[in-house]
Amino acid sequence: MQGNGASPSNDMPEFDYIIVGAGSAGCVLANRLSADGRHSVLLLEAGPKDTNIWIHVPIGYAKLFKEKSVNWMYQTEPEPGLGGRQVFQPRGKVLGGSSSINGLLYVRGQHEDYDRWRQRGNVGWGYDDVLPYFKRAENQVRGGDAYHGAGGPLHVSDWRHHDPLSEAFVKAAVETGIPFNPDFNGASQEGAGFFQTTTRRGRRASSAFSYLRPARTRPNLHIETGALAQRLLFEGRRVRAVEYRQNGRLRTARARKEILVSSGAYNSPQLLQLSGVGPAELLKSHGIDVVLDAPGVGNDLQDHLQVRIVMKCPQPVTLNDVVRHPVRKAMAGLQYAALRKGPLTIAAGTSGAFFKTNPRLASPDIQIHFIPFSTDKMGEKLHPFSAFSASVCQLRPESRGSLKIKSADASVPPAIRINYLATETDRAAFIDGMRILRKILAAPALKPYCTEEVYPGANITSDEGLLDFCRKTGSTVYHPTSTCRMGSDPLAVVDQRLKVRGIEGLRVVDASVMPDLMSGNTNAPTIMIAEKASDMILEDAR
Ligand SMILES: Cc1cc2nc3c(=O)[nH]c(=O)nc-3n(C[C@H](O)[C@H](O)[C@H](O)COP(=O)(O)OP(=O)(O)OC[C@H]3O[C@@H](n4cnc5c(N)ncnc54)[C@H](O)[C@@H]3O)c2cc1C
Repeated sequence: MQGNGASPSNDMPEFDYIIVGAGSAGCVLANRLSADGRHSVLLLEAGPKDTNIWIHVPIGYAKLFKEKSVNWMYQTEPEPGLGGRQVFQPRGKVLGGSSSINGLLYVRGQHEDYDRWRQRGNVGWGYDDVLPYFKRAENQVRGGDAYHGAGGPLHVSDWRHHDPLSEAFVKAAVETGIPFNPDFNGASQEGAGFFQTTTRRGRRASSAFSYLRPARTRPNLHIETGALAQRLLFEGRRVRAVEYRQNGRLRTARARKEILVSSGAYNSPQLLQLSGVGPAELLKSHGIDVVLDAPGVGNDLQDHLQVRIVMKCPQPVTLNDVVRHPVRKAMAGLQYAALRKGPLTIAAGTSGAFFKTNPRLASPDIQIHFIPFSTDKMGEKLHPFSAFSASVCQLRPESRGSLKIKSADASVPPAIRINYLATETDRAAFIDGMRILRKILAAPALKPYCTEEVYPGANITSDEGLLDFCRKTGSTVYHPTSTCRMGSDPLAVVDQRLKVRGIEGLRVVDASVMPDLMSGNTNAPTIMIAEKASDMILEDAR
């Protein structure tokens, strides 16, 4: 093999398809491509099997936040818009990828997101085009309807822990004029209500659980864990093989038909750059032979930022109270063990709201995640007093960043720059969003549960003060996308069939292909993308 200087090997195993990364998208592909038994599939995953018990308990997401055995634990470079702070970026490194460590919320985004993707020239990606794939993936506990599927691999369930605070939040939002919405994934996203989660009877439904488990004993599906892809190998501009490191040994596997990169929004562009597909100057500066000068690889990185308000509560009804009380804590454990209910089923939000900061907008630009506990930073100890949190997340940031390798070595983390709060629209959305959230927190239904605003503090009311608070405390909602963006302009990396433009036999299938960040949580949309990709790949194999 030539191109990037790979040497051929005689004992190289061959597969029809090689999938790099067993995350939200990779597990879907592994299942769908191996389903009819005609194609052999190799699934490579850098992390281990999903045996850590906290993966399967919803609240365990807080425990895995900084658990390096299953987490890449990236950091951004210093962020200019956040006063030079680095922002911690957890990503799943385990079967199921980030769907094994995420906050479990099932939020697809707005119809308008997909129609915007279509409007940007991406034929086949409008809302009407993608809805059948959301439905095909879904096993909705409420049953199927015009917007929902029943009988798919991905279990979507209602909330199993009814606490008075989360209910009061929804009532309070309605009191401020936000309509009640029983289904954020139905006709319209706007309103206040309760999140659904990717869980089955109180246990996490990751894409490994939903898609890989039913497929793993198929003779034509080969799964390798602890296998870190180092680079792709080319003959000219046709990809032929993957070189990966496993148990200290360098191995190579060859693909007869295609290689599908599903390594996530950080690792997919990293792998392309390491393989010689990326901005030529960057690759040359690391001594990498250029296969294709593709300046868009790693470009256009977007992420959701969130800023939390923490409120002290005069009643012992928060999760902080359960955790610091040994008997209540033990009862919560027993309740979960016996019934799979109670505080251990809490995900990254119980209730929430989607609203517009400006009536001229066509659809909500803010998402609120309400959660009946509080902490200084996610993944750290809960406060030793009764308190809860609600975060403001801007749904469609204008700010764009980049991802660039820092070394030709795959084990060296890339430079991640998100450029949070880089535009006036983004800064204004947070200031207005926090003001609207404060109105909700002051509404009658929440009055009995609020004493003192711990963060940012009631004395901070000016635009400058609120923005300063955002800069000092804002953190990610863990939704990086668009680093291998779909499109047909010169900076687009993949076309509408997710094929890497200018390269043969290579697709990217994961959150990195989103043309821009959609207005919701990114797991369900990534699974939808992989469902649609699997049809396109099988069509092209005929
Ligand atoms: C803490 C956290 C909370 C979140 N909360 C939510 C939520 O509540 N709701 C929601 O919808 N979304 C949430 N998300 C986001 C969502 O989970 C992700 O957007 C989604 O899982 C991305 O899927 P993916 O397939 O693109 O990447 P991933 O699922 O991250 O999969 C990539 C896989 O590739 C593997 N890999 C990477 N590089 C290599 C390599 N070189 N060789 C081999 N394997 C490799 C990784 O180990 C990983 O398993 C959260 C994410 C995190 C991290």
